[in-house]
Amino acid sequence: MRKLSMMVALVLAFVLCASMSFADRLQDIKDRGVLICGVKDAVVPFGFVDEKTNELVGFDIDVCKYIAGKLGVKADFKPVTSATRIPMVAQGSIDIAAASMTHKIARDETIDFSITYFMDGQKILVKKDSGIKSVADLDGKKVGTAKGSTSEQNILASQPNCRVLSFEGYPQSFLALKQGKVKAVTTDSTILLGLKNSDPNPDQWEIVGDFISPEPYGIGLPENESNLRDAINIALMDMWRSGEYVKTYNKWFGADTKYNLPLTWKMELWP
Ligand code: GLU
Repeated sequence: MRKLSMMVALVLAFVLCASMSFADRLQDIKDRGVLICGVKDAVVPFGFVDEKTNELVGFDIDVCKYIAGKLGVKADFKPVTSATRIPMVAQGSIDIAAASMTHKIARDETIDFSITYFMDGQKILVKKDSGIKSVADLDGKKVGTAKGSTSEQNILASQPNCRVLSFEGYPQSFLALKQGKVKAVTTDSTILLGLKNSDPNPDQWEIVGDFISPEPYGIGLPENESNLRDAINIALMDMWRSGEYVKTYNKWFGADTKYNLPLTWKMELWP
């Protein structure tokens, strides 16, 4: 009898170990039928609430919906900020972060990333006729940006004599610019364009100077989940190859939008 229960315990332990070694996040997502996506909810045009429909929309939202469709599941969304997205991926409260996030080697120490799915670079937004034409003119001036962003670090690297005020998000930084609390807002140029276009009087604002950094966006993923990473990379490449990427890009940045930004880069496509 003792022998039998030992055997049963051994078999149970074996089954448990086997199922643990096969269980991975991709399987969890498929079993639950939902991909939990961390997205911005106040960053036009990447992730924001449409005032008319009250729905979460944007380029990142569409990318998530496409990926979820490829995985055969539904996309659910959780709002993240620049500061919370990496901890939320690391803690597992979201499966992926599609949140205007630059993939950087330093960030890769905490989470993993997909291939690049969007390309941008950092600039500054100022009041028209402010006399500020580039970061060189920010010497001794206050600049607003979002806490936890690459923008925070890049601006200090290119203008060590400015004072950075970090807000929870970009709308708060833009409000500070409108209130005269900062002389510029700095982050990726398309986000700055989104802020400028969100103003009833966009012509009062201008985006100036050269790019101060490259900002290639990657989808943030949990560490060491290679099946999930493969599935996301393949879904992104499929989005590009099928023409869906260009369609989605043009929906948010094309000639019929306030952006009119031609697509000037190509996704890395594995044969
Ligand atoms: N792409 C930059 C970053 O990942 C700035 C935009 C953002 O804060 O989301 O930090």
